[in-house]
Amino acid sequence: MACAPRPKRPKPDLRPRFWRRYKLGELTPVEWEALCDGCAKCCLIKLEDEDTGALAYTSVACRLLDTGTCRCGNYPLRRQLVPACVVLTPKTLREAMAWLPSTCAYRLVAEGRDLYRWHPLISGDPETVHSAGISRRGRMVPEYEVAEEDLEDHVIEEDE
Ligand code: SF4
Ligand code: SF4
Repeated sequence: MACAPRPKRPKPDLRPRFWRRYKLGELTPVEWEALCDGCAKCCLIKLEDEDTGALAYTSVACRLLDTGTCRCGNYPLRRQLVPACVVLTPKTLREAMAWLPSTCAYRLVAEGRDLYRWHPLISGDPETVHSAGISRRGRMVPEYEVAEEDLEDHVIEEDE
């Protein structure tokens, strides 16, 4: 048995250690997207206490999330399909810092910190965010399986 030659795939155009060398607003669109570690924590439904404003994560995943891969089911059309979805940009990040998980790569870089060893940009392997137990893969319930009034039963710690 033999594999036919495959065409070489061009590597995405990423500047070396761009997340340490450039400000978030200076990243190219490809670098911006590459910064996401694919943990899916930001796609979990969060509950806000009306009195205190405190946020609580749940293990319930946005209805558009592919819970097997931790990827959005329709990334280009996510805003049309899920109006509550926040498209992260250097501008929206400022507000989103209040609810993004502490491990989020955008938050780490905005805080002047480096990425963790399990981040795919450091490890070179998109699986490490899962094998390190950081992502929510295998630990989510799809939104369509949970009634609105039962969301509270699924509250988790952010770093759980
Ligand atoms: S929390 Fe941050 S790093 Fe994780 S999937 Fe969301 S945007 Fe990407
Ligand atoms: S629409 Fe996509 S990116 Fe937005 S929260 Fe849902 S799964 Fe995540």
